[in-house]
Amino acid sequence: MFKGTDIKPFETKVWLASPTMHGDELKYMTEAYETNWMSTVGKNINEVEKLASEYIGVKYAVALSAGTASLHLGMKLAGIEAYGMPKVGHGALEGHKVFCTDMTFDATVNPVVYEGGEPVFIDTEKDSWNMDPVALEKAFEIYPEVKVVVIAHLYGTPGKMDELTRIINEHGAILVEDAAESMGATYKGVQTGTFGKYNTISFNGNKIITGSAGGCFLTNDKKAADKVRKWSTQARENAAWYQHEELGYNYRMSNVIAGVVRGQFPYLDEHIAQKKEIYNRYKEGLKDIPVSMNPILDDCEPNYWLSCLLINEDAMCKQVRGEQEVCYTKEIGKTCPTEILEAIASINAEGRPIWKPMHMQPIYRLNPFIVRDGNGRARSNAYIEGGVVDVGMDIFQRGLCLPSDNKMTKEQQDKIIEVIKACFE
Ligand SMILES: *Cc1c(COP(=O)(O)O)cnc(C)c1O
Repeated sequence: MFKGTDIKPFETKVWLASPTMHGDELKYMTEAYETNWMSTVGKNINEVEKLASEYIGVKYAVALSAGTASLHLGMKLAGIEAYGMPKVGHGALEGHKVFCTDMTFDATVNPVVYEGGEPVFIDTEKDSWNMDPVALEKAFEIYPEVKVVVIAHLYGTPGKMDELTRIINEHGAILVEDAAESMGATYKGVQTGTFGKYNTISFNGNKIITGSAGGCFLTNDKKAADKVRKWSTQARENAAWYQHEELGYNYRMSNVIAGVVRGQFPYLDEHIAQKKEIYNRYKEGLKDIPVSMNPILDDCEPNYWLSCLLINEDAMCKQVRGEQEVCYTKEIGKTCPTEILEAIASINAEGRPIWKPMHMQPIYRLNPFIVRDGNGRARSNAYIEGGVVDVGMDIFQRGLCLPSDNKMTKEQQDKIIEVIKACFE
C-alpha cells in the first residue's frame, strides 16, 4: 500500500515495456522448425526484410542479430566512405571524431568506438529531447573535419530532422540514423529510419515490436546493403571454398527469430495506437500537477514507445545521485524522480530513470561534449562554464520513464497516476 492512498500492489507486475505476442509468431517459428530452416537462412528472414523495407519506405533491409550489429556495420561503412579502407586490425574510424546524440542508450555510441572512433557528444534540445541543431552547428565550428554523425530518436519521438540534416549536408558529413526506439514514428509524414544514409531499427525484447532480439539495417544504397549482407555472414567470397578477402562478422538474424518478427509486424500499428493512448492518459491524468510529458514537435507522430515526465524545477525536492546510489530529501509539496520511481515500484510497476546522458557516463566522461551556449565547449563532465547545467543533465535530474507497457489496463494506469500525484503532497 502506498502512503496516503489505499492502492494495493498489482498482482502481476506492470512493466516499463514488455513483449506483446499475438500467436502468429509461434506459427512462423514452427514453420522454421518444421521445414528445418533452423539457420540464418530461410523464408522468415526474407519476409522480415520485405516487411521492414516496405513499411519504413527504404529500398533495402538486411536482417541482423541486433540493432547494435546494424549500427556497427553502418559506422564501418560511413568510416570507409569518409576515410578509406583501413588495414586489417584497424578500425574504419581510427583517429577520427564522430558527432553523437548524447541522451541515448549506449548502443547508439559504442559502435563508433568498435571502429576506433572518438565520440563527441552533442547536447540535447528541450523541444523533443533529441540532438540540438544549435549545438551541432557549434560542434562543426570547433571540429570542421568531422565527417560522420549518429542521431537517435529518444523514446520514439523524432528529433529536428530538417535542421539536423541541413547542417550535416552543408558540412558534407554522413548521417547514420538510429531508429531503434522509434520504428513507425514519422517526421513530417516521413518514417524515421529513412533520414540517414545507413539506418537501424531494433527488435530487442523491450522495443515496440520484438523478435526477442534482432534488428535491421536499412538503406537505399544497394552496394551498402550487399556489403552488410556479406560482412554479416563472415564475409565469404563467391568461391567453392571459404575464401576471405575482408573482415567478417557473425551478425545475421536467425530464421527462428525472424519468425517472431514476421509475426509481430502486422501488429506494429496496433502497438503504436495503444502506446499513444497510454501517453494521452498520462498527459490528461497528470495535468494538474507541476510536471510535463516528454515533448513532441509539431508535424511529428511519435510511436510513443515510452511515456516520460519531467518535474517542474520549483517542484523538485533535493536529489543527489552518485555513480550508483541516490539520495533525496522529501519536502512537502515537492518530489523527485527517485521518490516517484519508488512509489511506482511499491505498487509492483516498473518505471526507469531517464537514460543517463553519455557525457556523464564514466566510460565517456573525458570525451568532448558540445552545448549550444557560449563557445559550445562544455567544461567538466556536466557543468558548463558559468555553472549552468546542460540540457541533458537537467532532463536526467528531473525526468523519468513511466510504466508504458501496452498490456497495462486503464485501471492500472489510473492507480499509477494516483500514486504519482500523492508524491506531490
Ligand atoms: C535498443 C537500442 C539499440 C540497440 O538495439 P539492439 O537490438 O538491442 O542491439 C540501439 N539504440 C537505441 C537508442 C536503443 O534503444
